[in-house]
Amino acid sequence: MTRIEKASVEEVVQAADMLEVVGLRTQLRKAGANYTGLCPFHQEKTPSFSVDPVEKLYYCFGCGEGGDLLAFVQKVENLTFAEAVESLADRYGVTLRYEESGATDADRRRRERLRRLLEQACAYYERVLWEAHLAEAARAYLAQRGLSEEAAKEYRLGYSFAAWSKLRDAALVKGFSEKELLDAGLTVPGRRGSGYDRFRGRLMFPLTDERGRVLGFGARTLGDDKPKYLNSPETPLYHKSEALFGLDKAKQAASREDALFVVEGYTDVLALVQAGVRNVVASMGTALTEEQLKRMVRLTRNLYLCFDADAAGQGAMTRALSVGRSLGITLRVVRVSNRMPSLSSSSRKVWLSADCDTPSFAAALVKLRSRATTRKDWRSARSRFCIHDLCS
Ligand SMILES: [Zn+2]
Repeated sequence: MTRIEKASVEEVVQAADMLEVVGLRTQLRKAGANYTGLCPFHQEKTPSFSVDPVEKLYYCFGCGEGGDLLAFVQKVENLTFAEAVESLADRYGVTLRYEESGATDADRRRRERLRRLLEQACAYYERVLWEAHLAEAARAYLAQRGLSEEAAKEYRLGYSFAAWSKLRDAALVKGFSEKELLDAGLTVPGRRGSGYDRFRGRLMFPLTDERGRVLGFGARTLGDDKPKYLNSPETPLYHKSEALFGLDKAKQAASREDALFVVEGYTDVLALVQAGVRNVVASMGTALTEEQLKRMVRLTRNLYLCFDADAAGQGAMTRALSVGRSLGITLRVVRVSNRMPSLSSSSRKVWLSADCDTPSFAAALVKLRSRATTRKDWRSARSRFCIHDLCS
């Protein structure tokens, strides 16, 4: 059982901006020494919710809800005390220290080693992608998909050699063990005791936590190998049900714009980033889980789903909506008109349903539209981001 040190909790509370945290949930206006706004905990038309930014306390004269900064975060984000501290530590860049017993100390060191191994593997794949002659096909694939080197580098894309033990050998030289390679999900156990590289001849997409630390990889084949996408297995660090591609990069924009777009594919994220939409993440595979939704809701409650218009995408969407309902989160579906829109700005609005009239997303669609020269181009571009015939 680990506990966050008291001094760390205090440091987090000190670092956090009460007005900013509360401001994400309700608009505040200065009233004397305090601030006031509409209560996020009950429905009201005149403000009875008051915030003391210095003491970092809140109180509602309407419903009696009140407490300190951490109580507020726990309540609105549906978190435990420790989760609320971790969430704020993340947002305000505070490194937490934990009280720990001997057993968990060893466990923590082991996880730290795995993190270091995954980080080095990520850097290795990156180097291979940009420097190796044998990665030419991977670079050509990115170019052909219209993905820029800049965006690919920002998201730390890489390439794994089409060989059995290149990564393993490099990691062993660096002092990591066969067991650590297996535990990190980077190798698969072989017949003679030694493992071989799990990812071979694939474009590598690192999957990170909110802080950008590498937990695992998603990997796309460039050939006809099955499966087309191969992910890290469950490991002490990587859990498929929690993974979201690009969450660390989307964090800031999602808080600033109070909206987050969820797409299906890694390359959809890169395409939207290139088009100026930064508050975007990809769900891994088709089913959006409760854990994924909880991670996203920490950034904003305005989630927009943009899944593929095929049957799998629609099924995923319907499931996501019902998971969202059970958590009390309203998910919105991005729909775009079926017709190829004209490029004039006056008609831009009608492309989007009222639900998703968000400037950054509209801008991305304008870019997509300007690249499309035929109706067929437009349909395929649009279908990558939007589902248009599912009513929410
Ligand atoms: Zn209230």
